[in-house]
Amino acid sequence: MSILEVRHLKKYFDTKAGVLHAVDDVSFSIEKGETLGIVGESGCGKSTLGRTIQHLLPATDGTILFKGRDVTKLSKKEVKDFMKEVQMIFQDPYSSLNPRMTVKQIIMEPLLIDGMKKKEAQDEVRAMMETVGLDARFENAYPNELDGGRRQRIGIARALILKPEFVICDEPVSALDVSIQAQILNLMQDLQEQLGLTYIFVTHDLSVVKYISNKIAVMYLGNLVEYADTEELFANPQHPYTQALLASVPTTDLAKVQEIEIIPGEITSPIEPGPGCRFASRCRHASEKCTCLQPELIKSGESHQVACHLFGGQEG
Ligand code: SF4
Repeated sequence: MSILEVRHLKKYFDTKAGVLHAVDDVSFSIEKGETLGIVGESGCGKSTLGRTIQHLLPATDGTILFKGRDVTKLSKKEVKDFMKEVQMIFQDPYSSLNPRMTVKQIIMEPLLIDGMKKKEAQDEVRAMMETVGLDARFENAYPNELDGGRRQRIGIARALILKPEFVICDEPVSALDVSIQAQILNLMQDLQEQLGLTYIFVTHDLSVVKYISNKIAVMYLGNLVEYADTEELFANPQHPYTQALLASVPTTDLAKVQEIEIIPGEITSPIEPGPGCRFASRCRHASEKCTCLQPELIKSGESHQVACHLFGGQEG
């Protein structure tokens, strides 16, 4: 059974200009122990999707089944328990950590809120600092006294201190130097193995997602447009948007230098978007059908799904 199944999830926001469709009819599932990478340009809805799953934002419609239970229908008390099992790691550890609290206080806070005695909580914090590679000498330091990598280790320790099964990581390494990024990604992989964690990894960085994920979901303007095993997606990208994204990844291998493909055309507004494919204004394959009928996500291979009229009898 999947640990998480998202069905027809919608998250809309009322704005002065109209209703913004940030997440629109998104469905996917994740098995225990997997890492699902969610990629797309900024504004595609990937962070909103993560926050809606974690209950930081209420869903507009759809279901989120966590271990078979619909978490959009939980009572306040049940939401509290759910949020212990599903934690978040944020992009910018500096702004997500209270600058007036020491490392020990920051990591310990969720335990105290959960009712643990201070002495026991202190022991847990020390063990967790060791688990995430934070030297005990930093326990009385403040976040601004530490570098970005150590600050992100605090964020990870705080997210894991209540022993969650599922962690939603929202661009956790994008604010870090490349060398530190590799250390944090390796740490996250080790922790996943050691603690049996399942991850959703939200990022705009395809090389990061290729490194860490088993499966990838590609989002464009609130829609999930392609979903596949990582190897399969990189070997055989099917959606014209994914193809353009992959072509824009700079490579350090000079034998394989690719032209950065600038995706032409105007980006469709996510505010009350029209009925067709949201990528139509930028797609060189767009037909008349694409501008009036939104393609559904359909199976297009063994471990592959795509939402495009070029596939599976959806031709225009
Ligand atoms: Fe392009 Fe049409 Fe496919 Fe959309 S549905 S990606 S416009 S070919």
